[in-house]
Amino acid sequence: MNQQLILVINCGSSSLKFSLICLSTKHTILTGLAECLGTPEAQLTIKKNGEKTKTGLVAPHNHRKAIENILTYLKEQQLDQSIIALGHRFVHGGEVYSAPTLINDQVIEKIEELSSLAPLHNPANLIGVDATQAAFPKLPQVAVFDTAFHQTMPEQAFLYAIPYELYTKHGIRRYGFHGTSHYFVAKEAAKILDKKFSAVNLITAHLGNGCSISAIKDGRSVDTSMGLTPLEGVAMGTRSGDIDPGLLLHLQQELGYTAEQLNQLLNKDSGLKGLSSLSNDCRALEDAVLKDNHPQATIALSVFCYRIAKTISSYIAALESLDGLVFTGGIGENSSFVRTQVVKRLSLLNIHLDEEKNEATRFGASGNIASPTSRPCLVIPTNEEWVIAEQTQQVLNKE
Ligand code: AMP
Repeated sequence: MNQQLILVINCGSSSLKFSLICLSTKHTILTGLAECLGTPEAQLTIKKNGEKTKTGLVAPHNHRKAIENILTYLKEQQLDQSIIALGHRFVHGGEVYSAPTLINDQVIEKIEELSSLAPLHNPANLIGVDATQAAFPKLPQVAVFDTAFHQTMPEQAFLYAIPYELYTKHGIRRYGFHGTSHYFVAKEAAKILDKKFSAVNLITAHLGNGCSISAIKDGRSVDTSMGLTPLEGVAMGTRSGDIDPGLLLHLQQELGYTAEQLNQLLNKDSGLKGLSSLSNDCRALEDAVLKDNHPQATIALSVFCYRIAKTISSYIAALESLDGLVFTGGIGENSSFVRTQVVKRLSLLNIHLDEEKNEATRFGASGNIASPTSRPCLVIPTNEEWVIAEQTQQVLNKE
């Protein structure tokens, strides 16, 4: 078999997602998830040709064990010899990494240094590198950063209006996330709109459990809604998004909240879940609104959609022209309800939906759902793994 495959790894502290991608045939050969790592319930699920294989992991139930099992499976399927490299998703590249990078000892050290900016994510991503280096010692490994695409933001967009020293001494600034997703859908949108990527002007809305919106000018990110951390911006599944920073002081000083409690409140108990007191899942809330007229689900979705529309509209300040709006992510790709509620507030941008197309464009479909006289409004399923594989290949070609 002559195909050249790239194994894409997205490692969290207790999970490891992976995809095996063949770039030449544009085909995802298999995907998988090791979850509950670090506990006796650890298990590995591999999906190939629509069939799922589930196995429990024996002790030590850790990332290395999961990778060993994946390697055994790849050997059984005679796929291991075709793998030419591994591409790892990294959440935070700070200002150091604005492009994908071949992983070596210095890079690992630098990423460790950057961990203060992403204490929950970068160390977990590094566990993935450690585990895969043990299993694939001879293969090159490449780091692809979520923040990299947004490194083109100008100072006016990335600086907070706080003492400048906090930026120069401690790197406190807006970085933005979901970069591989915004990049992927912007490139696809340029193709659909028949424009060069380097000349396309878009607003891309990645709406999933985490949500971020980006302004893209001439194929480069010039603003995005997430900031120093993925908590800033629009409301999300369980994250608050923007709030008055004075609220934190109030909660601390008047209600006695600790840092840990604030973290729990803003990251885990807010957003759609906090407002609805029902669920962080958009589908569940839509059902509650449509079937039961549930008042809190109604208000949660109103706040969610209004904030998205407001952020999209604010990018008038970042762009000089606009070729179209793009929806992606689990909600953006599937929820015709949310798209309707957002776009009905965008008539000043001349964006209007064709409701039939909106309803029909779901579950993996892509296309322009705008009415004939409207500016284009595209739905494009994202594929972050594909970007990681492509960028891994590009790094190999350069080396
Ligand atoms: P993601 O984080 O991109 O996987 O997106 C997860 C979000 O997408 C959850 O809020 C889901 O409820 C939402 N979602 C997935 N499918 C649908 C659907 N058919 N209709 C509405 N929301 C959906």
